[in-house]
Amino acid sequence: MMDEYRGVWVFIEQNDGKIEGVSLELLGAGRKLADKLDVPLSGVLLGYEIKSLSQEVIAYGADQVYVIDHEVMKDYRTESYMKAVIDLAEKYKPEIFLYGATSNGKDLASAVATDLSTGLTADTTMLDVEVDKRLLEASRPAFGGNIMATILCKKHRPQMATVRPKVMKALEPDPDKQGEVIEEAITLSEDEMRTKVIKIVKDVTKKVNLADAHVVVAGGKGMGDFQNFQLIHELADAIGATVGGTRDVVEAGWLPHEQQVGQTGETITPKVYFAIGISGAIQHIVGMKNSEFIIAINKDPDAPIFDVATYGIVGDALEIVPKLIKELKEA
Ligand code: FAD
Repeated sequence: MMDEYRGVWVFIEQNDGKIEGVSLELLGAGRKLADKLDVPLSGVLLGYEIKSLSQEVIAYGADQVYVIDHEVMKDYRTESYMKAVIDLAEKYKPEIFLYGATSNGKDLASAVATDLSTGLTADTTMLDVEVDKRLLEASRPAFGGNIMATILCKKHRPQMATVRPKVMKALEPDPDKQGEVIEEAITLSEDEMRTKVIKIVKDVTKKVNLADAHVVVAGGKGMGDFQNFQLIHELADAIGATVGGTRDVVEAGWLPHEQQVGQTGETITPKVYFAIGISGAIQHIVGMKNSEFIIAINKDPDAPIFDVATYGIVGDALEIVPKLIKELKEA
């Protein structure tokens, strides 16, 4: 029975006709798995007036795209999206099915896994495949981030996982890549739906977009107090960077949660990451270790943050940071 299942699928999340970055990253990760298993990589694209996005899905690595373009799919709703995805999965039987660990991705994946009675590994940060057994190896931090657990789904198909944004790498898009677009019909009508989207209210508060920042200045408890933490903001302003912090800083009320970096915050990959007064706990490291350059300032020469730092400065941040700000302002 399990042999009937073939191929790697990626759920393509789009909002307002724009594909989410995590879906493109998953196409990159899915391409590697599909090549190892020697099977096609497919995107699953749902929405209304979104068919034209298929070429982008192909350019980022898919061999084919299943498209359901219907008015009932205009806004994300668990019941319509779940029905569409389950119908497709039952018809075409993919062996691996990946989703971004976004609010909608997590909601959809758990609903689909329950209905298909299959396993789902949530919040995965590493993916590989054991080719002989055709087993997806989905790894994620466990026990408070102290170990990496590799989770296998041995007896059910498809093998499903949600994957954190910014962990996998998207491929360079190839606009000339050829692929197949398979349009599927959906039998659902608006009258059958138990939920209706009345209005979508966009959050208009100015959000800090940590995930897309090129330079991040992050501060930790080593800054001492809220007043001293303002030096982190000042340094960030001086170099046009975005401010981030550790969970301890967020818990102290020095920063809002949306600016927390780490296992229970954002996973980011900026070009430059300043870690100032941050010890380097594993739960923090998992969220920033893939930054291109990491510059750490800590008064403890044995602080674990230095193990992942490109450049390390051992010293008192309360002396070093004001000097840096002064130099930068004068430059
Ligand atoms: P500390 O560990 O207290 O480190 C402060 C550092 O500052 C020390 O290294 C010290 O030497 C240095 N220092 C002190 N004074 C100075 C000075 N004047 N100048 C320079 N250096 C100085 N943490 C996260 O960050 N993100 C997460 O998403 C996250 N998720 C978690 C999930 C779970 C399930 C658990 C159990 C924990 C999680 N944590 C997370 C918490 C994590 O384990 C650490 O407690 C936290 O990262 C430590 O924050 P910190 O580095 O600011 O503080």
